[in-house]
Amino acid sequence: MRVYNFSAGPAMLPEPVLQHAKDELLDWDGSGMSVMEVSHRSKEFIACAERVEATLRAVMGIPENYRVLFLQGGAFGQFAAVPFNLAADGAPADFVSTGDWSAKAIAEAKKYVTPRVIADEKPDNYVRVPAEGSFQVGADAAYLHYTPNETIRGVEFGYVPDAGDIPLVADMSSTILSRPVDVSKFGVIYAGAQKNMGPSGMCVVIVRDDLLERARPTTPAVWSYAKMAANGSMLNTPPTFGWYLLGLVYEWVQAQGGLPAMAERNKAKADALYGFIDGSDFYANPVQADSRSWMNVPFLIAKPELEKTFVAQAADAGLTNLAGHRSVGGMRASIYNAMPLEGVLALIDFMKEFERSNG
Ligand SMILES: *Cc1c(COP(=O)(O)O)cnc(C)c1O
Repeated sequence: MRVYNFSAGPAMLPEPVLQHAKDELLDWDGSGMSVMEVSHRSKEFIACAERVEATLRAVMGIPENYRVLFLQGGAFGQFAAVPFNLAADGAPADFVSTGDWSAKAIAEAKKYVTPRVIADEKPDNYVRVPAEGSFQVGADAAYLHYTPNETIRGVEFGYVPDAGDIPLVADMSSTILSRPVDVSKFGVIYAGAQKNMGPSGMCVVIVRDDLLERARPTTPAVWSYAKMAANGSMLNTPPTFGWYLLGLVYEWVQAQGGLPAMAERNKAKADALYGFIDGSDFYANPVQADSRSWMNVPFLIAKPELEKTFVAQAADAGLTNLAGHRSVGGMRASIYNAMPLEGVLALIDFMKEFERSNG
């Protein structure tokens, strides 16, 4: 039996996608092989890779002057790849810090650039994003980096920061494809696949082509945007199965009505869950209302000693992976695109029942 999996990542995938992959697992595209066994240099796989990119371009409305790269090393790899590709050694780069992932991006970048944190929500315990227009990027910054959705604490930007002429870099790992986005406002968008796009093992990078020439000469080849762009993201062997599966997920998103439809569904799911939490004295979400994530909903219960019981009983009821991140505790429901509204409503029913028997 399939459960409702609330894992933050690797996360739930749409069932039709898994079914499709299963149906052609042993014989992909009439090849008599699985897609995993086909050479990445074969014309069949190259056609597949091109189709995946074309579908993502259509779904996100990616302009012509952007390149789409399918890289390895996860979003964490990009914490280093971004400074290598966009900034000279030790150059200033500006950061907005709204949570644990922002902080990790800053710590990694610090080895290669001089990070300046121009807005920091840590003193207030990461419960909101900074108000629009409340911070200003330095004229000499190599780029401005921010995290549109903080996966651990469930803090999400409802706006795109204005970086003027400075390239805006966004770690969209846990929010990509959840709602429409104007790609033309960004210099670089990157996202690990395993939250909202597919299995783990890939990181999608969308980069404006005028930024391709900025890399320092010491940039590792596998993380060089220019070299990867020139080689169709196949400088070395890519995770072919993951790449193929991304394509199935993009096609699924398209078939659902694209990002406007995703946004409508995601808002309905988030509204239902936050609405229930706010109406209860037993559950609480600490995030300021205008900064709440549509994708990751952390919550606490009035009796913290019951957290383990909550998580275990929920799993017994087919609602799995509800424990909060190990660094913050509590509970967290990750409700990415693949989580249907029925899953969220089942969670709310469980929460009501748990409060009734334990509140
Ligand atoms: C999960 C996550 C990461 C790390 O991704 P990896 O693919 O494990 O490297 C980075 N940033 C955000 C916002 C994330 O949610």
